[in-house]
Amino acid sequence: MQIYDLHKNFGDLAVLKGISTVVRRGEVVCVIGPSGSGKSTLLRCVNLLEEPTSGRIFILNEEITDPDADVDFIRTQMGMVFQQFNLFPHLTVLENCTIGQTQVKKIPRSVAEENARANLAKVGLADRTASYPAQLSGGQQQRVAIARALSMDVEMILFDEPTSALDPELVGDVLGVMRDLADEGMTMMVVTHEMAFAREVADRVIFMDGGVIVEEGHPDQVIGSPREERTRTFLQRVL
Ligand code: ATP
Ligand code: MG
Repeated sequence: MQIYDLHKNFGDLAVLKGISTVVRRGEVVCVIGPSGSGKSTLLRCVNLLEEPTSGRIFILNEEITDPDADVDFIRTQMGMVFQQFNLFPHLTVLENCTIGQTQVKKIPRSVAEENARANLAKVGLADRTASYPAQLSGGQQQRVAIARALSMDVEMILFDEPTSALDPELVGDVLGVMRDLADEGMTMMVVTHEMAFAREVADRVIFMDGGVIVEEGHPDQVIGSPREERTRTFLQRVL
């Protein structure tokens, strides 16, 4: 994915002020930065949940910011995992993982269920297919959300603070699943406050502040020995 000079304004408020970066296939990029710096807005622009004010974004050599782009196709290539799990409450775990496949991708139900079961097994939930989201812990719901994205056979998964709403004892399971995905070569863009995860799993860390990328590079550099004062100040507060 390539992002060129991305700007996003909400009315008079400039939230993204010229973001340019590249996420290569198989790369894990963690985005860190203070509250209000524009991290979620960046992910939402990449996923076309927000319309960029200007700039260009390419995925698989397709310009998604082109007015003629096939937005539905692009959305099927990108999974999104939110802080609040966003599962369908009235559907079972299995149905949550098949509905996108059958309705959007027109995959036959039997194949969709097979995919869903395989991905639910992968996230450690093979025995919860018949449960409803409300019957699961937050960590389990988040793992369903990941299995749902995987079941759509996406090119890339965007995570927006996937563990921030979880009780501390449930965070490890979700990070473990994300680590496995990273090891398997999934392309991932992860907004997170989990610095240990970013340090260990990310190929690259982006530090954002005030709608710009202040610093980006290998986690050992950005987190371990930041060049910019703003990065140092932020890390002193969160580490
Ligand atoms: P946090 O760490 O708290 O999640 P963030 O880095 O994800 O913060 P954003 O959610 O991207 O920050 O918000 C950046 C700025 O844009 C904030 O000032 C926010 O109030 C503003 N903003 C975000 N979405 C909208 C919207 N739909 N309308 C108006 N302003 C918005
Ligand atoms: Mg956010």
